[in-house]
Amino acid sequence: MKKILILKGDGIGPEIIKEAIKVLEIIEKKNNIKFEFHEALIGGQAIDKYNDPLPQETIEKLKIVDAVLLSAIGGPKWENLPQDKKPEKGLLRLRKELNAFANLRPAKVFSCLAEASTLKKEIIDGIDLMIVRELTGGIYFGMPRGKVNDSYVNTASYSEEEIRRIVKCAAQIAMKRKKKLCSVDKANVLEVSQFWREITIDTINKDFPEIELSHMYVDNCAMQLIRNPKQFDTIVTSNLFGDILSDEASMLTGSIGLLASASIGDGSKPALFEPIHGSAPDIAGQNKANPIAMILSTAMMLDYSFNMNKEALIISNAVETILNNGYRTADLGGELKTSEIGDLICQEIERNL
Ligand code: NAD
Repeated sequence: MKKILILKGDGIGPEIIKEAIKVLEIIEKKNNIKFEFHEALIGGQAIDKYNDPLPQETIEKLKIVDAVLLSAIGGPKWENLPQDKKPEKGLLRLRKELNAFANLRPAKVFSCLAEASTLKKEIIDGIDLMIVRELTGGIYFGMPRGKVNDSYVNTASYSEEEIRRIVKCAAQIAMKRKKKLCSVDKANVLEVSQFWREITIDTINKDFPEIELSHMYVDNCAMQLIRNPKQFDTIVTSNLFGDILSDEASMLTGSIGLLASASIGDGSKPALFEPIHGSAPDIAGQNKANPIAMILSTAMMLDYSFNMNKEALIISNAVETILNNGYRTADLGGELKTSEIGDLICQEIERNL
Protein backbone atom coordinates (compact mmCIF):
# COMPACT_ATOMS: atom_id res chain seq x y z
CA MET A 1 0.00 0.00 0.00
CA LYS A 2 1.38 3.39 -1.04
CA LYS A 3 -0.09 6.50 0.53
CA ILE A 4 -0.13 9.61 -1.64
CA LEU A 5 -1.02 13.13 -0.55
CA ILE A 6 -2.91 14.88 -3.34
CA LEU A 7 -2.62 18.67 -3.31
CA LYS A 8 -5.05 19.86 -5.97
CA GLY A 9 -3.98 23.49 -5.74
CA ASP A 10 -5.43 26.38 -7.71
CA GLY A 11 -6.30 27.32 -11.29
CA ILE A 12 -5.88 24.35 -13.63
CA GLY A 13 -4.61 22.26 -10.68
CA PRO A 14 -7.76 20.22 -10.01
CA GLU A 15 -8.25 19.50 -13.74
CA ILE A 16 -4.76 18.17 -14.37
CA ILE A 17 -4.41 16.23 -11.14
CA LYS A 18 -7.62 14.39 -11.99
CA GLU A 19 -5.81 12.95 -15.02
CA ALA A 20 -2.85 11.89 -12.85
CA ILE A 21 -5.22 10.03 -10.53
CA LYS A 22 -6.81 8.31 -13.53
CA VAL A 23 -3.35 7.06 -14.51
CA LEU A 24 -2.68 5.75 -10.99
CA GLU A 25 -6.04 4.00 -10.91
CA ILE A 26 -5.25 2.19 -14.16
CA ILE A 27 -1.95 1.00 -12.68
CA GLU A 28 -3.76 -0.11 -9.54
CA LYS A 29 -6.33 -2.02 -11.57
CA LYS A 30 -3.77 -3.85 -13.70
CA ASN A 31 -0.97 -4.39 -11.16
CA ASN A 32 -0.98 -5.84 -7.73
CA ILE A 33 -0.61 -2.52 -5.93
CA LYS A 34 -2.89 -0.33 -3.84
CA PHE A 35 -2.67 3.44 -3.71
CA GLU A 36 -4.37 5.27 -0.87
CA PHE A 37 -5.17 8.88 -1.73
CA HIS A 38 -5.24 11.55 0.94
CA GLU A 39 -6.17 15.14 0.17
CA ALA A 40 -5.18 18.45 1.70
CA LEU A 41 -5.20 22.14 0.87
CA ILE A 42 -2.33 24.39 -0.16
CA GLY A 43 -1.99 27.80 -1.81
CA GLY A 44 -5.02 29.94 -2.60
CA GLN A 45 -7.57 27.28 -1.63
CA ALA A 46 -5.94 26.99 1.78
CA ILE A 47 -5.86 30.77 2.21
CA ASP A 48 -9.59 30.94 1.48
CA LYS A 49 -10.40 28.32 4.10
CA TYR A 50 -7.69 28.75 6.76
CA ASN A 51 -6.10 32.13 6.00
CA ASP A 52 -2.83 30.22 5.69
CA PRO A 53 -1.21 28.91 2.46
CA LEU A 54 0.12 25.82 4.27
CA PRO A 55 -2.23 25.04 7.14
CA GLN A 56 -1.32 22.76 10.03
CA GLU A 57 -3.82 20.14 8.77
CA THR A 58 -1.77 19.79 5.60
CA ILE A 59 1.51 19.60 7.52
CA GLU A 60 0.07 16.82 9.71
CA LYS A 61 -0.85 14.78 6.63
CA LEU A 62 2.75 14.91 5.40
CA LYS A 63 3.61 12.64 8.31
CA ILE A 64 1.39 9.77 7.18
CA VAL A 65 2.07 9.62 3.43
CA ASP A 66 4.81 8.12 1.26
CA ALA A 67 4.81 10.80 -1.46
CA VAL A 68 3.21 14.13 -2.31
CA LEU A 69 1.68 14.98 -5.65
CA LEU A 70 1.05 18.68 -6.24
CA SER A 71 -0.39 20.41 -9.28
CA ALA A 72 0.20 24.18 -9.01
CA ILE A 73 -0.79 27.08 -6.81
CA GLY A 74 -1.51 30.79 -7.10
CA GLY A 75 -3.67 33.17 -9.08
CA PRO A 76 -4.75 36.80 -9.39
CA LYS A 77 -7.19 36.53 -6.49
CA TRP A 78 -4.33 36.24 -3.98
CA GLU A 79 -1.72 38.39 -5.73
CA ASN A 80 -2.08 41.45 -3.52
CA LEU A 81 -1.77 39.68 -0.18
CA PRO A 82 1.28 40.40 1.97
CA GLN A 83 4.35 38.36 0.97
CA ASP A 84 4.00 35.97 3.89
CA LYS A 85 0.37 35.14 3.15
CA LYS A 86 0.73 34.53 -0.59
CA PRO A 87 0.08 31.07 -2.10
CA GLU A 88 3.74 30.80 -3.19
CA LYS A 89 4.83 31.00 0.43
CA GLY A 90 2.90 27.77 1.02
CA LEU A 91 5.00 26.01 -1.59
CA LEU A 92 8.28 27.28 -0.17
CA ARG A 93 7.23 26.20 3.30
CA LEU A 94 6.15 22.80 1.98
CA ARG A 95 9.58 22.16 0.43
CA LYS A 96 11.19 23.19 3.70
CA GLU A 97 8.90 20.90 5.73
CA LEU A 98 9.94 18.01 3.50
CA ASN A 99 13.61 18.92 3.80
CA ALA A 100 13.78 18.54 0.05
CA PHE A 101 17.37 19.48 -0.76
CA ALA A 102 17.44 18.17 -4.32
CA ASN A 103 15.35 19.41 -7.20
CA LEU A 104 15.26 17.12 -10.21
CA ARG A 105 14.24 18.54 -13.53
CA PRO A 106 14.32 16.28 -16.54
CA ALA A 107 14.28 17.89 -19.99
CA LYS A 108 13.40 15.47 -22.72
CA VAL A 109 12.51 16.39 -26.25
CA PHE A 110 9.87 14.31 -27.96
CA SER A 111 10.94 13.95 -31.59
CA CYS A 112 7.51 14.73 -32.92
CA LEU A 113 7.56 18.10 -31.13
CA ALA A 114 11.12 19.05 -32.03
CA GLU A 115 9.80 21.42 -34.71
CA ALA A 116 7.99 23.41 -32.00
CA SER A 117 11.26 24.55 -30.41
CA THR A 118 12.85 27.89 -31.19
CA LEU A 119 16.09 26.00 -31.85
CA LYS A 120 16.94 23.93 -34.92
CA LYS A 121 15.50 20.42 -34.92
CA GLU A 122 18.90 18.74 -35.32
CA ILE A 123 20.20 20.52 -32.21
CA ILE A 124 17.41 19.46 -29.90
CA ASP A 125 15.99 16.23 -31.32
CA GLY A 126 16.94 13.48 -28.87
CA ILE A 127 17.72 15.68 -25.86
CA ASP A 128 17.31 13.70 -22.66
CA LEU A 129 18.98 15.41 -19.75
CA MET A 130 18.45 15.75 -16.04
CA ILE A 131 19.37 18.78 -13.98
CA VAL A 132 19.87 18.17 -10.27
CA ARG A 133 19.74 21.48 -8.44
CA GLU A 134 20.68 21.95 -4.79
CA LEU A 135 17.56 23.45 -3.27
CA THR A 136 18.03 24.38 0.36
CA GLY A 137 21.45 26.04 0.53
CA GLY A 138 23.68 28.47 -1.34
CA ILE A 139 23.08 32.15 -1.89
CA TYR A 140 19.30 31.95 -1.43
CA PHE A 141 19.75 31.02 2.23
CA GLY A 142 23.31 32.02 3.24
CA MET A 143 23.86 34.43 6.11
CA PRO A 144 24.44 37.33 6.49
CA ARG A 145 21.83 38.66 4.16
CA GLY A 146 20.04 41.96 3.74
CA LYS A 147 21.28 45.36 4.76
CA VAL A 148 24.77 45.47 6.21
CA ASN A 149 25.95 49.01 6.95
CA ASP A 150 25.33 50.90 3.70
CA SER A 151 25.17 47.90 1.39
CA TYR A 152 22.91 44.98 0.67
CA VAL A 153 24.44 41.50 0.77
CA ASN A 154 23.68 37.88 0.08
CA THR A 155 26.06 35.11 0.99
CA ALA A 156 26.88 32.08 -1.15
CA SER A 157 27.93 29.34 1.24
CA TYR A 158 28.02 25.54 1.15
CA SER A 159 29.16 23.11 3.79
CA GLU A 160 30.91 19.85 2.96
CA GLU A 161 27.86 17.88 4.06
CA GLU A 162 25.51 19.90 1.84
CA ILE A 163 27.74 19.32 -1.19
CA ARG A 164 28.26 15.62 -0.54
CA ARG A 165 24.56 14.83 -0.18
CA ILE A 166 23.53 16.59 -3.40
CA VAL A 167 26.43 15.09 -5.35
CA LYS A 168 25.55 11.61 -4.05
CA CYS A 169 21.92 12.15 -5.02
CA ALA A 170 22.93 13.25 -8.54
CA ALA A 171 25.39 10.38 -8.83
CA GLN A 172 22.69 7.85 -7.94
CA ILE A 173 20.52 9.31 -10.68
CA ALA A 174 23.41 9.31 -13.16
CA MET A 175 24.03 5.64 -12.34
CA LYS A 176 20.53 4.82 -13.58
CA ARG A 177 21.16 6.85 -16.74
CA LYS A 178 24.34 7.05 -18.82
CA LYS A 179 26.74 7.29 -15.83
CA LYS A 180 27.84 10.73 -17.01
CA LEU A 181 27.78 13.57 -14.50
CA CYS A 182 28.68 17.19 -15.22
CA SER A 183 29.19 19.39 -12.18
CA VAL A 184 28.59 23.06 -12.93
CA ASP A 185 30.29 25.76 -10.88
CA LYS A 186 32.26 29.00 -11.10
CA ALA A 187 35.48 27.70 -9.62
CA ASN A 188 37.61 30.13 -11.62
CA VAL A 189 36.21 33.00 -9.51
CA LEU A 190 34.40 31.79 -6.40
CA GLU A 191 35.98 30.07 -3.39
CA VAL A 192 32.68 28.36 -2.59
CA SER A 193 32.78 26.84 -6.10
CA GLN A 194 36.38 25.68 -5.62
CA PHE A 195 35.26 23.86 -2.48
CA TRP A 196 32.22 22.49 -4.36
CA ARG A 197 34.56 21.07 -7.01
CA GLU A 198 36.96 19.57 -4.46
CA ILE A 199 34.18 17.78 -2.55
CA THR A 200 32.48 16.66 -5.75
CA ILE A 201 35.67 15.02 -7.02
CA ASP A 202 36.27 13.35 -3.67
CA THR A 203 32.68 12.04 -3.40
CA ILE A 204 32.67 10.58 -6.90
CA ASN A 205 36.15 9.07 -6.56
CA LYS A 206 35.26 7.41 -3.28
CA ASP A 207 31.71 6.23 -3.88
CA PHE A 208 31.01 6.23 -7.62
CA PRO A 209 34.18 5.30 -9.49
CA GLU A 210 32.18 4.11 -12.52
CA ILE A 211 30.85 7.61 -13.16
CA GLU A 212 32.46 9.77 -15.81
CA LEU A 213 32.70 13.13 -14.03
CA SER A 214 33.28 16.41 -15.81
CA HIS A 215 33.24 20.04 -14.66
CA MET A 216 32.00 23.11 -16.44
CA TYR A 217 31.85 26.80 -15.56
CA VAL A 218 28.29 28.04 -15.37
CA ASP A 219 28.68 30.67 -18.10
CA ASN A 220 30.02 28.04 -20.49
CA CYS A 221 27.22 25.64 -19.49
CA ALA A 222 24.58 28.27 -20.28
CA MET A 223 26.13 28.54 -23.75
CA GLN A 224 26.61 24.79 -24.28
CA LEU A 225 22.97 24.10 -23.41
CA ILE A 226 22.00 26.09 -26.48
CA ARG A 227 24.97 25.12 -28.70
CA ASN A 228 25.03 21.37 -28.12
CA PRO A 229 22.59 20.24 -25.41
CA LYS A 230 22.91 16.57 -26.35
CA GLN A 231 26.40 16.44 -24.81
CA PHE A 232 24.77 16.41 -21.34
CA ASP A 233 23.23 13.54 -19.44
CA THR A 234 23.06 14.48 -15.74
CA ILE A 235 24.05 17.93 -14.45
CA VAL A 236 24.54 18.75 -10.77
CA THR A 237 24.79 22.31 -9.58
CA SER A 238 24.11 24.81 -6.81
CA ASN A 239 20.82 26.49 -6.00
CA LEU A 240 21.35 29.74 -7.94
CA PHE A 241 23.01 28.22 -11.01
CA GLY A 242 20.44 25.41 -11.08
CA ASP A 243 17.56 27.85 -10.93
CA ILE A 244 18.76 29.60 -14.07
CA LEU A 245 20.03 26.58 -16.01
CA SER A 246 16.92 24.47 -15.37
CA ASP A 247 14.68 27.22 -16.76
CA GLU A 248 16.96 27.54 -19.76
CA ALA A 249 16.90 23.77 -20.32
CA SER A 250 13.13 23.66 -20.02
CA MET A 251 12.80 26.03 -22.95
CA LEU A 252 14.75 23.63 -25.15
CA THR A 253 11.76 21.33 -25.11
CA GLY A 254 9.20 23.77 -26.43
CA SER A 255 6.19 23.62 -24.14
CA ILE A 256 5.91 24.33 -20.45
CA GLY A 257 2.96 21.93 -20.28
CA LEU A 258 5.27 18.92 -20.69
CA LEU A 259 7.81 19.37 -17.93
CA ALA A 260 7.84 17.47 -14.66
CA SER A 261 9.93 17.88 -11.53
CA ALA A 262 10.70 16.23 -8.23
CA SER A 263 11.97 17.66 -4.95
CA ILE A 264 13.53 15.00 -2.79
CA GLY A 265 15.34 14.75 0.53
CA ASP A 266 17.18 12.00 2.37
CA GLY A 267 14.23 9.58 2.30
CA SER A 268 13.11 10.21 5.88
CA LYS A 269 10.27 12.40 4.60
CA PRO A 270 8.05 12.02 1.54
CA ALA A 271 9.26 13.51 -1.74
CA LEU A 272 7.28 16.07 -3.71
CA PHE A 273 6.36 15.73 -7.38
CA GLU A 274 4.93 18.59 -9.43
CA PRO A 275 4.90 20.06 -12.92
CA ILE A 276 7.17 23.08 -13.40
CA HIS A 277 4.37 25.27 -14.73
CA GLY A 278 2.07 27.45 -12.65
CA SER A 279 -1.69 27.40 -12.16
CA ALA A 280 -2.42 28.96 -15.59
CA PRO A 281 -5.39 31.07 -14.39
CA ASP A 282 -5.99 32.24 -17.98
CA ILE A 283 -7.27 28.79 -18.99
CA ALA A 284 -8.50 27.45 -15.63
CA GLY A 285 -11.83 25.65 -15.54
CA GLN A 286 -11.99 25.24 -19.32
CA ASN A 287 -10.73 21.65 -19.66
CA LYS A 288 -8.02 23.07 -21.93
CA ALA A 289 -4.85 22.56 -19.91
CA ASN A 290 -2.21 20.07 -20.93
CA PRO A 291 -2.03 17.38 -18.21
CA ILE A 292 1.19 15.81 -19.53
CA ALA A 293 3.61 17.55 -17.12
CA MET A 294 1.38 16.41 -14.26
CA ILE A 295 1.25 12.85 -15.60
CA LEU A 296 5.03 12.76 -16.10
CA SER A 297 5.47 14.06 -12.53
CA THR A 298 3.37 11.08 -11.45
CA ALA A 299 5.70 8.79 -13.40
CA MET A 300 8.65 10.34 -11.54
CA MET A 301 6.89 9.60 -8.26
CA LEU A 302 6.50 5.93 -9.19
CA ASP A 303 10.15 5.76 -10.21
CA TYR A 304 11.79 7.65 -7.33
CA SER A 305 9.49 7.06 -4.38
CA PHE A 306 8.04 3.62 -5.12
CA ASN A 307 10.76 2.00 -7.22
CA MET A 308 8.18 1.22 -9.90
CA ASN A 309 10.58 1.87 -12.78
CA LYS A 310 8.71 -0.33 -15.23
CA GLU A 311 5.40 1.47 -14.71
CA ALA A 312 7.12 4.88 -14.86
CA LEU A 313 8.59 3.96 -18.21
CA ILE A 314 5.26 2.71 -19.51
CA ILE A 315 3.71 6.09 -18.62
CA SER A 316 6.37 8.14 -20.37
CA ASN A 317 6.27 5.84 -23.39
CA ALA A 318 2.49 6.20 -23.51
CA VAL A 319 2.82 9.99 -23.52
CA GLU A 320 5.34 9.78 -26.34
CA THR A 321 3.12 7.44 -28.38
CA ILE A 322 0.10 9.72 -28.01
CA LEU A 323 2.13 12.73 -29.11
CA ASN A 324 3.67 10.75 -31.99
CA ASN A 325 0.16 9.86 -33.12
CA GLY A 326 -0.56 13.57 -33.48
CA TYR A 327 -2.80 14.12 -30.45
CA ARG A 328 -2.36 17.62 -29.02
CA THR A 329 -3.89 20.00 -26.50
CA ALA A 330 -4.27 23.70 -27.35
CA ASP A 331 -0.84 24.74 -26.02
CA LEU A 332 0.70 22.44 -28.67
CA GLY A 333 -1.57 23.68 -31.42
CA GLY A 334 -4.23 20.99 -31.09
CA GLU A 335 -7.85 20.86 -30.02
CA LEU A 336 -7.99 18.04 -27.50
CA LYS A 337 -9.41 18.69 -24.05
CA THR A 338 -7.52 17.90 -20.85
CA SER A 339 -9.70 14.89 -20.12
CA GLU A 340 -9.53 13.61 -23.72
CA ILE A 341 -5.75 13.47 -23.85
CA GLY A 342 -5.78 11.99 -20.33
CA ASP A 343 -8.10 9.22 -21.54
CA LEU A 344 -5.90 8.48 -24.56
CA ILE A 345 -2.80 8.24 -22.37
CA CYS A 346 -4.64 5.94 -19.94
CA GLN A 347 -5.75 3.65 -22.77
CA GLU A 348 -2.18 3.45 -24.05
CA ILE A 349 -0.87 2.67 -20.55
CA GLU A 350 -3.51 -0.02 -20.09
CA ARG A 351 -2.49 -1.66 -23.36
CA ASN A 352 1.12 -1.88 -22.25
CA LEU A 353 0.89 -2.85 -18.59
P1 NAD B 1 1.94 29.69 -15.63
O1 NAD B 1 2.94 28.61 -15.77
O2 NAD B 1 0.77 29.42 -14.77
O3 NAD B 1 1.38 30.11 -17.08
C1 NAD B 1 2.21 30.65 -18.10
C2 NAD B 1 1.54 30.39 -19.47
O4 NAD B 1 1.64 29.00 -19.77
C3 NAD B 1 0.05 30.71 -19.46
O5 NAD B 1 -0.30 31.21 -20.71
C4 NAD B 1 -0.62 29.38 -19.26
O6 NAD B 1 -1.90 29.27 -19.82
C5 NAD B 1 0.36 28.43 -19.93
N1 NAD B 1 0.36 27.10 -19.26
C6 NAD B 1 0.93 26.78 -18.08
N2 NAD B 1 0.71 25.50 -17.80
C7 NAD B 1 -0.01 25.00 -18.82
C8 NAD B 1 -0.56 23.72 -19.10
N3 NAD B 1 -0.40 22.68 -18.28
N4 NAD B 1 -1.26 23.55 -20.23
C9 NAD B 1 -1.42 24.57 -21.09
N5 NAD B 1 -0.93 25.81 -20.90
C10 NAD B 1 -0.24 26.02 -19.77
O7 NAD B 1 2.73 30.98 -15.11
P2 NAD B 1 2.19 32.41 -14.70
O8 NAD B 1 1.05 32.81 -15.60
O9 NAD B 1 3.37 33.26 -14.60
O10 NAD B 1 1.61 32.23 -13.22
C11 NAD B 1 0.25 31.97 -12.91
C12 NAD B 1 0.14 31.69 -11.42
O11 NAD B 1 0.85 30.48 -11.13
C13 NAD B 1 0.79 32.76 -10.56
O12 NAD B 1 -0.02 32.95 -9.43
C14 NAD B 1 2.13 32.20 -10.18
O13 NAD B 1 2.61 32.69 -8.97
C15 NAD B 1 1.79 30.73 -10.07
N6 NAD B 1 2.93 29.81 -10.25
C16 NAD B 1 2.92 28.69 -9.51
C17 NAD B 1 3.93 27.75 -9.67
C18 NAD B 1 3.85 26.49 -8.88
O14 NAD B 1 2.82 26.17 -8.33
N7 NAD B 1 4.91 25.72 -8.81
C19 NAD B 1 4.94 27.97 -10.62
C20 NAD B 1 4.90 29.12 -11.40
C21 NAD B 1 3.88 30.04 -11.21
